[in-house]
Amino acid sequence: MINNLSMDKLTPVQLAELDRKHFLHPTTNPKAHAENGPKAMFSEGKGIYVSEMEGVPYIDGVSMLWNVNIGHGNQEIAEVAKEQMSKLAYSSSFNGFSNEPAVRLAEKLATLAPGNLNSVFFTSGGSESNDTAFKLARFYWELNRKPLKRKIIALGNSYHGVTIAAQTATSIPNFHSFTNSKIKEVFHAKPHLTECERGDKNHPDYEGCIRDIVEKEGADTIAAVIMEPVQGAGGVHIPPEGYMAAVRKLCDDFNILLIADEVITGFGRTGTMFGSENWEAIPDLLCFAKGVTSGYAQLGGVMLSQNVRDTIVEYEEVLSHGFTYSGHATSCAVALKNIEIIERENLVANAKNMEVKLKAGLEYLSEKHKIVTKPRAIGLLSAIDLYQDPANNVPFEEGVMAAAKVWEACFERKLIARPIRFAKGMNTIALAPPLIINNQQIEDVVGILDDAISEFSKSL
Ligand code: PMP
Repeated sequence: MINNLSMDKLTPVQLAELDRKHFLHPTTNPKAHAENGPKAMFSEGKGIYVSEMEGVPYIDGVSMLWNVNIGHGNQEIAEVAKEQMSKLAYSSSFNGFSNEPAVRLAEKLATLAPGNLNSVFFTSGGSESNDTAFKLARFYWELNRKPLKRKIIALGNSYHGVTIAAQTATSIPNFHSFTNSKIKEVFHAKPHLTECERGDKNHPDYEGCIRDIVEKEGADTIAAVIMEPVQGAGGVHIPPEGYMAAVRKLCDDFNILLIADEVITGFGRTGTMFGSENWEAIPDLLCFAKGVTSGYAQLGGVMLSQNVRDTIVEYEEVLSHGFTYSGHATSCAVALKNIEIIERENLVANAKNMEVKLKAGLEYLSEKHKIVTKPRAIGLLSAIDLYQDPANNVPFEEGVMAAAKVWEACFERKLIARPIRFAKGMNTIALAPPLIINNQQIEDVVGILDDAISEFSKSL
């Protein structure tokens, strides 16, 4: 037992011991963690690198959880947070109270977002944003005297978060079914095929799977379709050209709202400020989080189209929805500075330029290694798949643990990648480095992944 805890006196071993006993980690195997303690204990970050105490830096090849868009250790952000906290760290946004950073950020987001998405409801993160979007969509239809329009359609392979509504919309099996906590009236359409899987550009399986549900359930019962412009945690699935525009059109045809979950794709990740812009499909509600602050503070939100907002502002009673931290002054000040840095440093354009280098690197790996297939990238959101025999579509057996082993071999070589392996035979390795990454650093990333795959291949 360690008494009188004083942070500066704890060794990494002592910290690990406390972690093991007192910290129940998200998305972590609890038994293994309680037995073995943390895999890494980060204490510093600079640019694309993060380090453990006195350790050799790792390249953060996934921007932690695809969110540290401007990279680690940015002192400008630290200064802004300090300044805002010294003045007014936080104030409520309930009952009409407001604060300057929240107002300025709302206005800035209105200028950045595509189309007429020009007002915002702030939350503390991505899951809250998606739950909020579902409620706003239902509320919109109630106000339009269509209270039966309540159902939500999401896509297979989607990840929308872990609050109970967002978890229901998520279709990654373990998250979707965890504790069987679900809301009613959520449906899943088969996912679109990825560009890599399609081959045939004229494949008819566009938005048809969504249409089938609309026709079966009746458009007059459906509030919204939610989709990630590029699916992230579900395996980095870049939709075929025209897919999102086709979903937009389907929603227009059937009088359904389109919700874009831009929690990963917002703020430059795909080489455009928002992912929807890649396909010129403008949603009615746009959910964001992660990159809005690059992880320097907790913040999320839902942007509303003019039409949705116009309907809602006609409501004459209290809008009974809101989070203590909606419009958090320090988080909003951090977001403003983060967006200023993204714009000033041309990080959206850098993401677009680096896509070429990253994709070429992944293509090189797929040519060199027999087991690597489907190299793909959009901006700095990318992945490869590992198959025992890609040419004949033969996946690795479960017991081989291909993605886990390659991920581990990367980690030993000081690259943090992300293994994705929720379905039988699925072995995806995702990379989504900070948007500040340069050519040399991309070569370093690809070089380490190359070595890691070689080591794994030899073990087969
Ligand atoms: N939507 C998407 C597309 C996400 O990737 C995530 C998080 N990975 C979420 C929602 C949930 O966000 P949060 O973890 O901030 O609740």
